[in-house]
Amino acid sequence: MPRPAESSILMSHSQRYDEASALALWDEDVLRLGRRADDYRRRLGVEDSLRITRHLNYTNICRYRCRFCRFCRRSHDADAYTHTPDELLEQAAAAVAAGAKVLHIVGGVHPELSYAYYVGLLRVMRQAFPEVHLRAFTATEIIDLAAKRPGSVEAVLAELMDAGLNSLPGGGAEILDENYFARHAPDKPGPDAWLNVHAAAHRLNLSTNATMLFGFRETLLQRTRHLLRLRALQDASLAAGRGAFAAFVPLPWIDAAGKPPGGRAEGFAELKTIAVSRLVLDNFPHVKAFTPLLGRGLAETALHFGADELETPLDNYLITNR
Ligand code: SF4
Repeated sequence: MPRPAESSILMSHSQRYDEASALALWDEDVLRLGRRADDYRRRLGVEDSLRITRHLNYTNICRYRCRFCRFCRRSHDADAYTHTPDELLEQAAAAVAAGAKVLHIVGGVHPELSYAYYVGLLRVMRQAFPEVHLRAFTATEIIDLAAKRPGSVEAVLAELMDAGLNSLPGGGAEILDENYFARHAPDKPGPDAWLNVHAAAHRLNLSTNATMLFGFRETLLQRTRHLLRLRALQDASLAAGRGAFAAFVPLPWIDAAGKPPGGRAEGFAELKTIAVSRLVLDNFPHVKAFTPLLGRGLAETALHFGADELETPLDNYLITNR
């Protein structure tokens, strides 16, 4: 799949959406918006692709209690778990044998796991699978590691890269808005902390993804500002000429029954979110459609609404709300 040079992406857009014009996009007809986003994606020269990824969750124990999260557990909960590196290696081996090219390793923010556990986990994975892309640890986990080490975020990232890390996932961004975090994730590091970790990764020439958890009580203005904050960091990272965001992954929040809050009618809202993201994030190479949360049918439809890549985890996807 051709990946356009990042500088050519920046030059290829002639008109940028500011806050007001980006906000107005949400009022547009979804089909017209989709056509425009699809046209823009084609002009970028990116072709549809399918990426087979294995999501490995090393623990579901988390020190935080985000209100939108149904994944996290306390250590005394009956269904709490923490896997050893050997157990994860076994899961990864089966996935690689089945064709996985990316291992996406994330978990809760475990209060007691040692720093050595994280470095050691990457080392065993890298040793076992030299060719596999290791995408591991959200910005929230990296911040926790910098407290455990202790040291700067840069020092932690450099050590993880030495152990085999290839990129950072985009989780933990939620909605990059201070008021949103204060209401829904009050005890976890906020938007600036998330952006700072990604900026640090880019300075180290590490590529990262960005996500947006949408559909959980945010306003359209907060959603729009989330996109604009990501675009601003991407501008700075591209100008510096080192690492940058590789892809944007919008994640619809789904309820305990596995449905978006409004049921099937939310499909239009999800497609619209993908289309608006593609148009506003004019400096992002890729927008992904994440099949476990969208469903395969809607994710494939999203490829006509600005998305260019289906991210399809092998086996079960356990984190349904982040
Ligand atoms: S979203 Fe992440 S940080 Fe928040 S409670 Fe869940 S696992 Fe923990």
